[in-house]
Amino acid sequence: MTKHYPDLMLYIGGAWRKTADAQPVLNPADEAVIGAVPVASRADLDDALDAAAKGFNVWRRVSPAKRAEVILKAARLMRERIDEIAHDITLEHGKPLAQARLEVIRGCEFFEWDAAEGQRTYGRVIPSEPGIKYIVHHEPIGTVAAFSPWNFPMSQPARKIGGALAAGCSIILKAAEETPAGAFHIARAFHDAGLPAGVFNLVFGVPADISSYLIPHNQIRMVAFTGSTAVGKHLTGLAARHMKPVLMELGGHAPVIVCDDVDPVAAAITSAVRKARNAGQVCTSPTRFFVQERVYEAFTRAFAEKARAIAVGNGLDAATEMGPLANHRRIEAMEMLVADARAKGARVLAGGERLGNRGYFFPVTVMADLPDDARAMREEPFGPMALINPVASLEEAIEKANALPFGLAAYAFTHSARNADQLAEGIEAGNVSINTLEASIPETPFGGVKESGYGREGGLEGLAHYTVIKNVSHRMMIA
Ligand code: NAD
Repeated sequence: MTKHYPDLMLYIGGAWRKTADAQPVLNPADEAVIGAVPVASRADLDDALDAAAKGFNVWRRVSPAKRAEVILKAARLMRERIDEIAHDITLEHGKPLAQARLEVIRGCEFFEWDAAEGQRTYGRVIPSEPGIKYIVHHEPIGTVAAFSPWNFPMSQPARKIGGALAAGCSIILKAAEETPAGAFHIARAFHDAGLPAGVFNLVFGVPADISSYLIPHNQIRMVAFTGSTAVGKHLTGLAARHMKPVLMELGGHAPVIVCDDVDPVAAAITSAVRKARNAGQVCTSPTRFFVQERVYEAFTRAFAEKARAIAVGNGLDAATEMGPLANHRRIEAMEMLVADARAKGARVLAGGERLGNRGYFFPVTVMADLPDDARAMREEPFGPMALINPVASLEEAIEKANALPFGLAAYAFTHSARNADQLAEGIEAGNVSINTLEASIPETPFGGVKESGYGREGGLEGLAHYTVIKNVSHRMMIA
């Protein structure tokens, strides 16, 4: 085992807890075991539920300003510990250290935004007949069961914990077993910042066992999940049977429309660099490129050239621009999608094959001229794969962009205001970004339409999910 990886524990009722059962955590760069993640038992989950009930009773009565103080203190601690946290994220996930550092900063920004927004959950007074007041309150919804994925071990948990805590809720987070250190460091920071016991509880274990026990439980009032559409649908069904609201941030298959009024080489280089971020394992990763015919060849050539130049390696090496994929399942998915596309006549212009056989390395893979029925064009690759096809018009591009059941992020490159308006209006997605491949920052609402989920994280809208509305009618005098 590596010395520098944390001794992971559950965090329940303000105390650290070891478990009888544990699973190995692997370094995807060399497949070595770097640590052990504890597996929560039913008794651990019962303790977490009890603790969360007690925590909620305390935290809901703490003023929003005092809650913000604790959240901001925890964020400050995480910023101070950035070297350690980023190192652990790179070890367990594989991403380059520089990207892990940016993730820690982004996670802190989520906390800081939520801490501020939590102080502005204003209600309203509704004017009506004299002598009676109608007052709308936004109350914390209760205990949240949250499930965060492995692609962003720190910033994904941060979104859910930040929203819940800023609104005055308690939370039980089941973070990803494959990349547990990010959430563990968050728990440490909140513990050290003086968060009351039971407000935030961290568990790991068997995902299906934990979700099927927590979601129906009376103490849980809301479910927040980020992950695949298939699992999201399953958890939404479970929550619906118990009439619980959900916040679902699910899969995407982001289209990028490249108009012929831009420099195709600059757009291609920007896109290839973004594609390599987190080895493409991002729900907003730019994936389906629809390029106007006049600039198609130049764009495709420049994209492939840049893709081939991206340095793939161990995330701890300073020269590395893209680390390994996070687990073996992603390698299998890449290989399957490339083989299928090749068989259906696609041109593979860069990458396409695993690098070596130790560590989950796969290069940025660029394929062009794919038929609509290639699996990669329909199934989210969730890896470093760019698919480039020509389009004759903007209308055709929009139609193709909207052809899938997903609608999370979409992008376009154009200098024309007319094109930009047409794209922004015509594309079915929760987030449309023009001339930038950034889809989600703390101050804007982020989420999907269609099968990409519902609800929004971030922005003014983010906290709303963690509150319920109570209308109080108060007649001043008894008639
Ligand atoms: P998966 O569908 O098996 O798991 C996705 C996530 O859901 C994991 O974090 C997993 O721990 C969790 N999960 C699975 N079953 C669960 C259950 N019954 N209850 C609670 N949580 C459960 O797929 P995977 O191989 O881990 O990831 C691949 C796919 O997941 C990708 O193709 C991508 O679509 C999706 N994904 C999306 C995001 C995102 O940011 N939206 C993040 C990670 C994975």
